Amino acid sequence: MKILIAGAGGFIGGHLVAQLISAGHTVRAVDGKALDQWYQVNESSENSSADLQLLDECARASDGVDQVFNLAADMGGMGFIENNKAACMLSSLINTHLLVAARENGVERFFFSSSACVYAAGKQTDPDITGLAEADAYPAEPEDGYGWEKLFGERMGRHFMEDFGLEFRTARYHNVYGPYGTWDGGREKAPAAICRKVINAKLTGNHEIEVWGDGLQSRSFMYIDDCVEGTLRLMESDVREPLNVGSEELVTINQLVDLAADIAGIEVTRRHLLDAPQGVRGRNSDNVLIRELLGWEPSISLRSGLQQTYDWIYGEMTSDTA
Ligand code: NAD
Repeated sequence: MKILIAGAGGFIGGHLVAQLISAGHTVRAVDGKALDQWYQVNESSENSSADLQLLDECARASDGVDQVFNLAADMGGMGFIENNKAACMLSSLINTHLLVAARENGVERFFFSSSACVYAAGKQTDPDITGLAEADAYPAEPEDGYGWEKLFGERMGRHFMEDFGLEFRTARYHNVYGPYGTWDGGREKAPAAICRKVINAKLTGNHEIEVWGDGLQSRSFMYIDDCVEGTLRLMESDVREPLNVGSEELVTINQLVDLAADIAGIEVTRRHLLDAPQGVRGRNSDNVLIRELLGWEPSISLRSGLQQTYDWIYGEMTSDTA
């Protein structure tokens, strides 16, 4: 098959390109960033830079492909999405124009990367959260900006499927982490940010690290290999509704810090920044539906995934070009 990966220069897109190439597909990889800014550039894919907010570029990118995976979005961790709501919402241009172009070009199947940020804030006020089931997205009260863009994208795709016959699949990713992702600069998410801070503590000998909030807020984190596998399983399936793709291993941010410090082999003290962005109080994935519909769920432990992420960030921070 010939497959377009939109957002191929980013974290998840880069890993998807590698997996699809190794499975023998022909891949067209497109991202808004210049090639030298991509996290991974695969020599076997057709790689180019284009602004996919533009319909013409979406038409060019999806010409002659069987499937589209849309991983392109202007996004980041809480620090980014709480302060860049308009930029986040402008990503609706990417998904809308890609859908329009995919339909025009006769694409068979389309994947949209949605997010746990679609879930109603009122259901995420307790750190001991039992897990968000897919039905919890309505009545709609998503994360302002970014979450609304994702919910809109889900519905737009669903209606393209119902009205125009374009097969549409969408995953609600819960916090994905791993190597070849953002680890500094303001868009990084908690696992990478904590690894960076702990590594910095180890390298400098100053073992006090800043933690956003009181550290009691809870999350689950999915390792990138599980994310890629879940994405491909969902895309190949006949599941036409949004599906959680996330881990059910719930930890507090303090526990995440403890784990990173343990991997580093150091003790750290925390300085809690209570005014920093921290998002909802508790968020976990409920995997009842994915188990039932795909017979599979993410299973890589946080310890194992964080070790690999830590090792990669350590390499980045200590290499000559870091
Ligand atoms: P990322 O920021 O690493 O990758 C997104 C890529 O999209 C970037 O390389 C960026 O340059 C590209 N892009 C942005 N605007 C573009 C444009 N106008 N034209 C072309 N390319 C453009 O993010 P990621 O972590 O790989 O996330 C991929 C997708 O998964 C996004 O839709 C994101 O919202 C979603 N998601 C990610 C997570 C997570 O934890 N990483 C969680 C939920 C949902």
